[in-house]
Amino acid sequence: MATGVDRFYIGGEWVEPKSGDVSEILNPATEEVIATAAVSSPKDAVAAIEAARVAFDEGPWPGMAPAERGAIVRRMGEILHTRRRELGDLLREEVGATLYLIKTVQVSWAIEAFALSAEWAETFPWEEEAPSRTKPVTVRSLLVREPVGVVSAITPFNYPLFVNSWKVAPAIAMGNTVVLKPAPWTPLDAFEIARAAEEAGLPPGVLNVIGGGGVDVGEEMVGNPMVDMVSFTGSLTAGRSVGARAAQTVKKVQLELGGKSAAIVLDDASAEDVAMRIMGNCMLHAGQGCGCTTRLLVPETMHDEVVERTAAMCALMPIGDPADPSVVLGPLIREQHRARVESYVQAGIDEGATLVTGGRRPPQLDKGFFYEPTVFTDVRNDMRIAQEEIFGPVLAVIRYRDEDEAVRIANDSVFGLGGAVYSPNRPRALAFSRRLRTGFVGIGGGMLNFHGSWGGYKQSGVGREWRAGLEEYTELKHLTWVEP
Ligand code: NAD
Repeated sequence: MATGVDRFYIGGEWVEPKSGDVSEILNPATEEVIATAAVSSPKDAVAAIEAARVAFDEGPWPGMAPAERGAIVRRMGEILHTRRRELGDLLREEVGATLYLIKTVQVSWAIEAFALSAEWAETFPWEEEAPSRTKPVTVRSLLVREPVGVVSAITPFNYPLFVNSWKVAPAIAMGNTVVLKPAPWTPLDAFEIARAAEEAGLPPGVLNVIGGGGVDVGEEMVGNPMVDMVSFTGSLTAGRSVGARAAQTVKKVQLELGGKSAAIVLDDASAEDVAMRIMGNCMLHAGQGCGCTTRLLVPETMHDEVVERTAAMCALMPIGDPADPSVVLGPLIREQHRARVESYVQAGIDEGATLVTGGRRPPQLDKGFFYEPTVFTDVRNDMRIAQEEIFGPVLAVIRYRDEDEAVRIANDSVFGLGGAVYSPNRPRALAFSRRLRTGFVGIGGGMLNFHGSWGGYKQSGVGREWRAGLEEYTELKHLTWVEP
């Protein structure tokens, strides 16, 4: 059994939840209960916001030197690092993370957030002098960056430790105080961050973690006037509601939403290479990734070979309980989510796409919310399976005639989060990538680099994360005076 949650971390104390509601947290691979977790209510959110407000307005944190804050933030990362094996076990049970994902996004890359945020905050240009205006008098200007204040961090289920860490670490390293609400299905690892904060000596109220309550708790965290900024990661539907509610109190909002990203195969790419990369870029974590490239744009001339190889590769993917280290494809998070994926597969069939492989629950697995990697071809870009985020292991293959058409299809989406371009010719791939209206493009096997940025164009979001997102956690103050 994983460690459950019976108390929330508010104002540096482990306090009794206000509602008394408890949920069972399931291992999605076995359907077994791994822990029970207290569910938060809006009253818990208010208590956490009040603690964060006091810590910001009266506590030492915002005024501390970045290096002093950095030492504590770094220490939090070190503590999490010493617990990485337990965290790996937890993530495997909580969200069905495979060994590969534990060694990368789900645990190791999550923990990196602390050391990197500490380092960036220390070297951040907190103050710079702007050029003076000289006529009719000399006007000097100092531009000063300050923390925003109380940040509500609301996170999704798919990469919980990663998203939680990449909100908490930069927000606090930049001098803010935070209320973190994880997703209702995956609340456990957020409390590991709280434990690390306590052990590292983070001042009370700088980080407050409440249980994964529902929409009403998120709404309180967005609407409450004591909150200065909302950093939200989740679905487009919820993001629209967060944006609208935050506007009522004119809050700063960072939205990291969904995607329907395209991988474009240029005609000099190797079909074998493409098939292999699609396993990672689309099927990884059973397709439960915002940046998954779920549309594959293929030139007519390569279509049959790419589809054949991709389907063959899908059929070879070891699928099952990630407790078996050879498993590459784990489960979907819950039965209701699998039912949603199934309804999209049915929509694809109904709209006339051709199912090449998958499209069913693996018959050999009678427990767990598994779904076979699924490939559709003969997909038109106006079909629902090409326009809406499915969040499952479902690939839509779309043919194109020339590069102009490929760009048009790739950009014909309300989303603009990720993307990939497959070609061995880097200058060609780079030139093509510049034409895509999206926040991230992996060229060939391009991987995540936290010194860069993450975030979406269009309805994939507002603002950026990682290094380029550091400024989001600041306000800009302009100090100006006239030289005598
Ligand atoms: P979700 O939108 O259902 O929930 C996300 C979080 O928001 C949860 O904590 C939930 O309780 C809360 N919430 C829901 N409605 C809310 C509201 N009206 N006001 C305030 N809070 C609310 O998302 P999910 O199903 O947990 O996660 C999957 C989604 O997250 C996908 O759309 C995926 O693309 C997106 N995602 C995006 C990124 C990114 O970086 N862009 C990263 C991971 C996941």
